[in-house]
Amino acid sequence: MIIKLKEGTLKENADLLKTKLMDLGFEIHESIGSSITIFGVVGDTSKFDQESLYAYDFIDSVLRVQEPFKQVNRKFHPDNSIIDVSGVMIGGENIVVMAGPCAVESQEQVETIAPLVASAGARILRGGAYKPRTSPYSFQGVGGDGLGILKHAGARFNMPVVSEIMSVEDLDYFVGTVDLLQVGARNMQNFSLLKELGKTQVPILLKRGLANTIEEWLMSAEYILAGGNRNVILCERGIRTFETATRSTLDISSIPVLKKLSHLPVIVDPSHAAGRWEYVEALAKASIAAGADGLIIEVHHEPEKALSDGQQSLKPERFQSLMDGCRRIATAIGRKLD
Ligand code: PEP
Ligand code: MN
Repeated sequence: MIIKLKEGTLKENADLLKTKLMDLGFEIHESIGSSITIFGVVGDTSKFDQESLYAYDFIDSVLRVQEPFKQVNRKFHPDNSIIDVSGVMIGGENIVVMAGPCAVESQEQVETIAPLVASAGARILRGGAYKPRTSPYSFQGVGGDGLGILKHAGARFNMPVVSEIMSVEDLDYFVGTVDLLQVGARNMQNFSLLKELGKTQVPILLKRGLANTIEEWLMSAEYILAGGNRNVILCERGIRTFETATRSTLDISSIPVLKKLSHLPVIVDPSHAAGRWEYVEALAKASIAAGADGLIIEVHHEPEKALSDGQQSLKPERFQSLMDGCRRIATAIGRKLD
C-alpha cells in the first residue's frame, strides 16, 4: 500500500501516522521527494481498511500496489534515484560510462588500459578478478590479487572501480576494496548473495539474468533494498533468444519499461550483448537514445591477446569513437556525457 501525503503536511502529523501504522505491525519506507512525502507500507494489508485513512485531512491518496516489487517501484519513490559511487553520480542528468578490460590480467595491463579509457571520458574502471566462465578449463580470473591491482589503478587514475562478486565468502574483501559491486547475470537469482549485499550500504550493479524477465530482475533488486541497501543500479546485458548472430539479444525495450516501473538507474552493457566488437558502438548509441543512464564497455589494448572476451573488446581508438558518437546522442536528447 502507498500513502501519498498532501503538500505541506506537518512533520508531526506524518510521524503520528507512521507510528500508528508501525503499531499495527507494518514496515514503513518513507520517500521524501521535492514536494511530497510518500509512505510505502509493507506487510499484509489485505485486512486493513484503507478507506479509513482518509479520516486524516493531510492524506492525498492511498493506493494498493499490484506489482510484487515494492521498494524498487516508482510508485513508492516517484523521483529517479541517484546512486553515489564514490563521488560519481549515476541516475542523474549525466550519463556515466564505465570501461576497462573484461578481466584483470596483470598490473601492467590494467594500468595501460585505465588512462586510455579515462582520457576518452570513462568515469569508472571495470575489471573482473573472479570470472564466471562457462567452461571450467577457461581462464577463471586472477582472484583477490586482481582486486588490489584494480583498486591501485583506480586510485592512480582517479576512477572508482567496479568488479564482479561471485561468492558471499569474498564480501568483506570486496566491500573495502571495490566501489561498485557487480552481481553478474549468472548470479542474478543467487538469493543468499543478494541478502548479504542488502545488509551493506555499498553500491550494487545488478545485471539481468540471461533468461530472466524484467519482473524477476526487479524482484532480485527488491531483495537488496528489502535488506536495507537502496544503492542499486540495474544493468541490461542482453537475454537469450533464438537469435545466434549476436551473443545475446540486447533488450532495448527493457530501458523504457524499467524507467516506468522503477526509480532505479539503468545502465547497459552492449559488449556482452553483442559478443562482437563491431556491433558494440551501435548498441551503445541505441541505449543512450532509449534513455539509459550509463554504459559498461569492455576495452583492451590488445584484444587478440586478451585472456577473456577479446572478440567483443574495443581497442582504445574504437572506444574513443564510441564515446564521440554517444556524446552526440546525449546532446541530442538533452543529457550530458563527460
Ligand atoms: C562481465 O561483466 O564480465 C560478465 C561476465 O558479464 P555478465 O554477467 O553480464 O555475463
Ligand atoms: Mn566479459
